[in-house]
Amino acid sequence: MEKEALLSVKGLRTEFYTEHGAIPSVNGVTFAIKRGETVAVVGESGCGKSVTSLSIMGLISAPGKVVAGEIQFNGKDLTAISDSEYRKLRGNELSMIFQEPLTSLNPLFTIGNQLSEVILLHQNVTKAEAKQQSIDMLKKVGIPRAEQVYRSYPHSLSGGMRQRVMIAIALACSPKLLIADEPTTALDVTIQAQILHLLRTLVKENGTAILLITHDLGVVAEMADTVIVMYAGQVVEQTDVVTLFEQPAHPYTAGLLASTPKIDEHQQTLPSIEGTVPTPDTMPTGCRFSPRCPKAMARCKQEAPPMFEATKGHYVRCWLFDEKGGAAV
Ligand code: SF4
Repeated sequence: MEKEALLSVKGLRTEFYTEHGAIPSVNGVTFAIKRGETVAVVGESGCGKSVTSLSIMGLISAPGKVVAGEIQFNGKDLTAISDSEYRKLRGNELSMIFQEPLTSLNPLFTIGNQLSEVILLHQNVTKAEAKQQSIDMLKKVGIPRAEQVYRSYPHSLSGGMRQRVMIAIALACSPKLLIADEPTTALDVTIQAQILHLLRTLVKENGTAILLITHDLGVVAEMADTVIVMYAGQVVEQTDVVTLFEQPAHPYTAGLLASTPKIDEHQQTLPSIEGTVPTPDTMPTGCRFSPRCPKAMARCKQEAPPMFEATKGHYVRCWLFDEKGGAAV
């Protein structure tokens, strides 16, 4: 039996208000995550990945606003709940880790203060119990001398240790969904591998689902069950990780994969996707990828493609799949 969706996002539209009017940063994004599943969202900077995750977390503030769509999480419609209900969910059932832990940790408070605070806020425990749980959590994320680190300030730790602390804080209350926004980008390669391994182990133990935001296809291959490719504020391809790497269908995904170095091939120069992601004021009519697409046809410049189901469970926003008989969804 299909597992029910833990998170279901339908037709999400998030706009930012500027002196030139409302500009959509995310437009019609639809996807779902099952319990315990890891879904990676990939795409270049400015494609809407982070705005999607901040919209789910309820962290879009003025001049931005979620203006349309549904975000169902564990049976609740997150677009309809109050700020105080959102605060109760965040750090509890719904957690997030960011790219740069130094900007997320408060430099004025010890690691222990910050970790215990989350536990005390969401669990009915005493201060002593929260302290013990915090130290246990620091040990669980592989921090040596956990008691000493509990009393330390963020600046005295290395980048890798700070990211472990962020993971400890994010997982302290066993969330149902963890949103990890470029969790290893700021770290060097060996530490990156350790952190990814740690995340994989912990979420497996807890049955936590992950929404992993990344531009790094190596991280996607390592972690994801399902992959969503975003381009210019829209989902352009969605499928399981093996199909994505073996049979990328959207020309943008194919370009992203071609521009990633491969360990078993010696390449002097890597092909790149020419041009840049359009800004809202240069958004092309028709397919948003058409100015950069090597397979663009006349129709692509006039009509925006819908999502087609190319093969079962493999969704592609591209007119090529209309001709191949994919069913529009
Ligand atoms: Fe390329 Fe056309 Fe497909 Fe867009 S719809 S990705 S322009 S082939």
